[in-house]
Amino acid sequence: MKKHNFSAGPAILPESVITQAAEAAKEFNGTGLSILEMSHRGKEVVAVMNEAVSLVKDILGLGSNHEVLFLTGGASTQFFMAPMNFLNQEETAGYVDTGSWSTKAIKEAKHFGNIEEIASSKDKNFSYIPKGYNIPSNAKYLHLTSNNTIFGTQQHIWPETNVPFICDMSSDIFSRPIDIDRYGMIYAGAQKNMGPAGTTLAIINKDTFSKADRVIPTMLDYSTHISKQSSFNTPPVYAIYICMLTLRWVKEMGGLSAMANHNKVKAQLLYNEIDSNPLFSGAAAKEDRSLMNATFVMSKGNEGLSDSFLERATSAGCVGIKGHRSVGGFRASIYNAMPKESIQVLVDVMKDFTQKHG
Ligand SMILES: *Cc1c(COP(=O)(O)O)cnc(C)c1O
Repeated sequence: MKKHNFSAGPAILPESVITQAAEAAKEFNGTGLSILEMSHRGKEVVAVMNEAVSLVKDILGLGSNHEVLFLTGGASTQFFMAPMNFLNQEETAGYVDTGSWSTKAIKEAKHFGNIEEIASSKDKNFSYIPKGYNIPSNAKYLHLTSNNTIFGTQQHIWPETNVPFICDMSSDIFSRPIDIDRYGMIYAGAQKNMGPAGTTLAIINKDTFSKADRVIPTMLDYSTHISKQSSFNTPPVYAIYICMLTLRWVKEMGGLSAMANHNKVKAQLLYNEIDSNPLFSGAAAKEDRSLMNATFVMSKGNEGLSDSFLERATSAGCVGIKGHRSVGGFRASIYNAMPKESIQVLVDVMKDFTQKHG
């Protein structure tokens, strides 16, 4: 039986996407070949790459000034690739530290310029999103992490500034509409909300930044991938194909505003239970809660029940809810593809558990 997959990443994909991906691995579109053995220069694969790019543009409403790339190396490579390409050594960039991923982004960026950490929520174990901080007016960009996968917080209010954003959207891209004009660049590892591991989406506004004045190895230079449409070297075709299928699904579901509505209803179902059930309490500040990763713990005095709740959830088919070691407790990742019915199963397990132990 298919389990309810609450894993943070690699994560749940729409069932129809898995089915089509499995078929394409056997034979792609009646070609007599598996997509796994097809040339990335052949017309079938070029069509897949092109459709993936057009779907990204269509769903996000991108203009002709936007370049859409499918890269490799994960979001972690973008931590250094973005400043390497866009920030000169004597220039300043502002970074907001909202958790482990942004901490890593800051560490890597420091090799390439003057990095000012302008706000951090480290004082409370990253359980909230800093607000009302000053952004240096000379900052070339402001780096933000829209959703903190580990800590279960999400940016719902964006800072007022003319400084362009570079944003790590790995765990909430395509989950809600965005104001695209505010971003010089967006990047996202595919394996949270867009597809399987193996490719990273990068969206670059060509008008925002000029190229930094340093030697950049060919493979790490965005302009290489822009001029070769993500096929300078062999791209991860199968991963990009599965992203394309997922994007088709997002579009069929009604696009970003439909996704956002769906995600709100789903998150509310779970947070309502966390808030009303005396055995559990939320780990993140309410106003900053993530609609993608709900973090929660056993309430005070009930910590000893953690393992037994995990066992109950697992035997009901709910997997992947053990919290990250830096927060403890539980984390239910409820990305786009997570059906409301699966969340209801988890909520029922929580209710039932409290009846027996509360
Ligand atoms: C998972 C994650 C990353 C790291 O992604 P990789 O593709 O494994 O490098 C970076 N940022 C955020 C917000 C993530 O959730």
